[in-house]
Amino acid sequence: MRIDIISIFPEYFAPLDVSLIGKARERGTLDVRVHQLRDWAHDVHKTVDDTPYGGGPGMVMKPEVWGEAIDSVIGDGAPRMIVPTPSGRPFTQELAQELAEEPWLLFACGRYEGIDTRVVEEYSGRLRVDEVCIGDYVLAGGEVAVLVMVEAVGRLLPGVLGNAQSAVDDSFAPGSMRNLVEGPVYTKPPVWRGREVPDVLLSGHHGKIARWRRDEALRRTVRNRPELAAELDPGTLDKHDRRL
Ligand code: SAM
Repeated sequence: MRIDIISIFPEYFAPLDVSLIGKARERGTLDVRVHQLRDWAHDVHKTVDDTPYGGGPGMVMKPEVWGEAIDSVIGDGAPRMIVPTPSGRPFTQELAQELAEEPWLLFACGRYEGIDTRVVEEYSGRLRVDEVCIGDYVLAGGEVAVLVMVEAVGRLLPGVLGNAQSAVDDSFAPGSMRNLVEGPVYTKPPVWRGREVPDVLLSGHHGKIARWRRDEALRRTVRNRPELAAELDPGTLDKHDRRL
């Protein structure tokens, strides 16, 4: 997969050199190219923002510089374009999975009060463009949001995770974990500070372990994410689930 990122702070993306994503880049599974937006600004100060029409606080990113940057990065190609913004659609595991199936993604990182809206309008005519929000809070810029999305998408690419089953069992994974968060996990030793690992996990009985994991996932979802639990498809719940 190719990923282009346009930002006024390319240095934010240094973490993409480490861990799973760094290894995926080394192997060539992931080709990440980070571009400095100011390279397409023409004045001596490399200005990328201006005052908002209609007044109000803050500055807005200029459409001309974004237009030149995007045209230059994509050429005649047609990546799927992602614009992080608090006003976008929620970023979910389902969307991460969908993006992981794209051959090419382009991320446009806003700063200040965001990017002039005409940029999204302009490219929506030529590319698939999604405005995406990573959570109901406001960051200072799109860079951290893009790091979140690149990591969530990158770990789903074939061969990136050591064990592909991990992604299937994860919280929110499409399939049996849809609308569920994962239950508690344990490792050795079997007793730590008097706290014991549940017997079932030491039993070697795969059916019982699967049942326990499912029960715990349901319990945690009801406790921590009641709005997700309310979305569970009743058709996927058995008699045992309903008792929890
Ligand atoms: N005035 C904007 C609003 O209220 O929607 C917030 C702008 S924010 C200070 C600057 C940039 O940070 C945005 O253009 C976007 O790129 C990024 N950003 C902030 N919060 C975000 C979030 N929750 N999800 C995705 N991007 C976010």
